[in-house]
Amino acid sequence: MEELKGWFFSRSIKFKILFSYLISIILIGIIGYSYYVMGNIKSIKREAAIYRKNLEDNQKKMVRNVVNIALDGIDKYYDAYKNKEMSEEEAIKKSIEFINAIRYNIGKNINVYDYVWINTLDGVMVLDPPKPELNGKNVWNFKDKNGVYLFREMARVIETQGGGFVEYCWPKLGSNSKGCYPKVSYVGYFYPWKWVVGSGFYLDDLDKAVDGFLKRKEKDMFITTVNSLIAGGLISVVAGFVFFFIVSCITNRLREVGELSKKLAEEEVSPQLKLPYKGDDELGILVKNFNDFIDESYKLMLFKKTIEEDVDVNAVYRRLFDLLKDDFGIRQFNVYEVNNSKSSMKQIIVYETEKMACKQDILLSCNLCRCVRTAKEVDSFVEKNVCLSFIEHDKNHVCIPLLVGGTVGSVVQLIFEEKQKTKEIEKKIKRVKVFLKEAAPVIEAKRLLSQLKESTMRDPLTGLYNRRFLDEFAATFSATVKRRNTLAGILMCDVDFFKQVNDVYGHNVGDEVLRGVVRAIAKSIRESDIAVRFGGEEFLVLLQDVDEKSVLEIAERIRSDVEKTEITVQGNVIKKTLSIGVSIFPKDSKNLWQCIKFSDVAMYKAKEAGRNRVVRFEPDMWTEESY
Ligand code: GH3
Ligand code: MG
Ligand code: MG
Repeated sequence: MEELKGWFFSRSIKFKILFSYLISIILIGIIGYSYYVMGNIKSIKREAAIYRKNLEDNQKKMVRNVVNIALDGIDKYYDAYKNKEMSEEEAIKKSIEFINAIRYNIGKNINVYDYVWINTLDGVMVLDPPKPELNGKNVWNFKDKNGVYLFREMARVIETQGGGFVEYCWPKLGSNSKGCYPKVSYVGYFYPWKWVVGSGFYLDDLDKAVDGFLKRKEKDMFITTVNSLIAGGLISVVAGFVFFFIVSCITNRLREVGELSKKLAEEEVSPQLKLPYKGDDELGILVKNFNDFIDESYKLMLFKKTIEEDVDVNAVYRRLFDLLKDDFGIRQFNVYEVNNSKSSMKQIIVYETEKMACKQDILLSCNLCRCVRTAKEVDSFVEKNVCLSFIEHDKNHVCIPLLVGGTVGSVVQLIFEEKQKTKEIEKKIKRVKVFLKEAAPVIEAKRLLSQLKESTMRDPLTGLYNRRFLDEFAATFSATVKRRNTLAGILMCDVDFFKQVNDVYGHNVGDEVLRGVVRAIAKSIRESDIAVRFGGEEFLVLLQDVDEKSVLEIAERIRSDVEKTEITVQGNVIKKTLSIGVSIFPKDSKNLWQCIKFSDVAMYKAKEAGRNRVVRFEPDMWTEESY
């Protein structure tokens, strides 16, 4: 059985369907025809019963008519005797002759016929045409094999009803004379001579007729059954072919989908793999879903490929923004990047219109962001006001964490104006998550890479950019300033008598003092200005978008801020001063490096002039020797 099951299940769908079709046709044939034949047999039996009843009624009518005709004949002779046209003996004789001559239902055998007999009311046989030996005999006590005193019965029917039907059994002409066959006879009465006149028919003759009727009907039924079987068979075969064709269409399509799935596993997803769409039936829907899947996979693959090739994490974010905005049609969203070491986060702004939908506090303490804290998706559709930091209470938000090495690296916040999460929104969120899942490792890799790069660009002691950064950044900086047609201030700051600190307090204290000086410098400049540790205790500050006057003001401010700063190290309060040389790019030279050199020259002039001062570079400071 198991083997048979295995065999059946490994057949093709086409085979299975056609096999099932064949079995169904056979079953329907057997059940249908049995039902049909049984019903027919029943109705034939019913018809036969009616047929028999009609036949019996007709026979009864006939024998009654025959008896009445016989009585009429006897009447005629009796009338003739009454009219004195003949004697009574003659009338009786003529009557007997007349009755004796009545024959009907003569069969193929001339000796088999129906007849009319006469006996007297008190049971003397007057005329029995087939058995003349009975004539004159008293049959009053005659009884048939069932014990019926048939002549007494006839007398009773005559006396009570004046005539009627009597049932008994009687031998049959042409058959075994001793045999006894059930017979129905009609008896009438001729009063003047006290004659009982009767004639009958045999019930088994009716049965024979009914048998014949049944045989005819059965033959008819057999012929119609065979004919309809042939017709049904032909229709089934034609239907089978049509069915085969339809099933083939379906299975061919299925095979196409199957082959495509195989191809998908072997090849890269591409829109060429899509199947032709032919209509919206179940298969059409399958093909449509399949094509959608290919479209989506292709889009996803392209997205992943593109972001992998993007230059840095910001480019990836920009791509993500485009995707959310253009492809998903999400109107409001934010991306936050978590700075795990500082436990803060920042909003990644690509399009300036994206204002924050959360309290500003989350930027300083990222644990206030529920999504960062739980590292789980936060969905206000599911739970209203789920995150206390979300402030746009008339809207719903879904925040999806992008995990980087087990912790939340960034959060993508989708904001919806809809009150309920419709099917469409749900689908959208699901799709966004698929894309984010692809983007997360890429973002992680790019962030790590940029962090690594950043670390090589920074000086570990002060956290300022190093010379290496300056080397890379100089060209961009120079180009930006020139393009914007603005001025940049270049300040070369050198700590005065720094060697003394090392000499008096040691190198470690020296390091701390350096850090203190850097903090003071950083406080005096803007975020967009760039401070570089240029040498041991030399710092280069690049001021963007400034005029000459403000450059000198800022330099002076730095100088005086540092001068005022008390640096406490190991119980010692140390104050240091700066000598600052100032040049203006590209006013002093179109070459940035030249300008840096000029600021250095000016710085040395400040040293020469007694230190703790700001000196603006003048062209006459520049001599070939100082280069
Ligand atoms: P001035 O510039 O005013 O002429 O005097 P100065 O003492 O600063 O002179 P100089 O520039 O020659 O000395 C710089 C000193 O800074 C030399 C070096 O020992 C010290 N220095 C440089 N880098 C570091 C550092 O990272 N840590 C410490 N503790 N000292 C450093
Ligand atoms: Mg110095
Ligand atoms: Mg120095």
